[in-house]
Amino acid sequence: NRKLLIIVTPTYTRPFQTYYMNRLAHTLKLVPHPLLWIVVEMIPQSAETADILRRNGIMYRHLICNKNVTNVKDRSVQQRNVALSHIETHRLDGIVYFADDDNIYATDLFEQMRQIRRFGTWMVTKLIGDKSKAILEGPICNGTQVIGWHINESSGKSRRFHADMSGFAFNSTILWDPKRWHRPTLVPIRQLDTVNNGFQVSTFIEQVVEDESQMEGLLQDCSRILVWHLHLESSYSFYPNKWFMKNNLDVV
Ligand code: UDP
Repeated sequence: NRKLLIIVTPTYTRPFQTYYMNRLAHTLKLVPHPLLWIVVEMIPQSAETADILRRNGIMYRHLICNKNVTNVKDRSVQQRNVALSHIETHRLDGIVYFADDDNIYATDLFEQMRQIRRFGTWMVTKLIGDKSKAILEGPICNGTQVIGWHINESSGKSRRFHADMSGFAFNSTILWDPKRWHRPTLVPIRQLDTVNNGFQVSTFIEQVVEDESQMEGLLQDCSRILVWHLHLESSYSFYPNKWFMKNNLDVV
């Protein structure tokens, strides 16, 4: 009996969206069932995203967030919160993973996640194109025990947990059954939208676990890297708002 994987992806229209979403869909298609892909957009739901979801044969839910969020950086946070509420309301029992659309994932990772009891974490590599640098973020482990963190100098040292948004996954029952898991807080889990970027992940994790002793380090002493975070935004300025085009572009 394989554990359900609940993959949460916030997404929005931009030049590389169709590439990112198709790439992620192709990865998820290779993962053995059961897997549910929860994709969340701000209102309105886009026909293009719906199209990708329908075509790929992955079990999915296409949700929208209708909050009026002015700060761009808070949008994806609110979208993930919509997914968390959905999981909690419908008591979807599985392992929850925040998989941003622009990361690259090795399929092994998903199979490994099924072993998580409470909270699993692993390393993520960030590739920064213009500086030709790779930065590691995530746990340092001794076996499955988390004993420290790779600290990324740009994100500050004062965070409690130095995991990436796509560097952890957790058992969904923690959301509605805090007593069973001795969760640090009994209030409903929400990511806070007022905290700075680098702190969002840490603040979220602080609601799910007390300390490193409640974590499981994944992937051979956390030595394997199976997630790559690329900062590869395109700067094409003539890209249409949507990628259905009624007319052909002029050929010069
Ligand atoms: N995202 C979104 N709406 C936004 C901004 C971001 O849905 O207004 C999504 C984006 O598609 C991705 C995730 O949030 O799945 C993380 O976004 P981004 O890569 O911009 O964040 P960063 O790489 O800077 O952490």
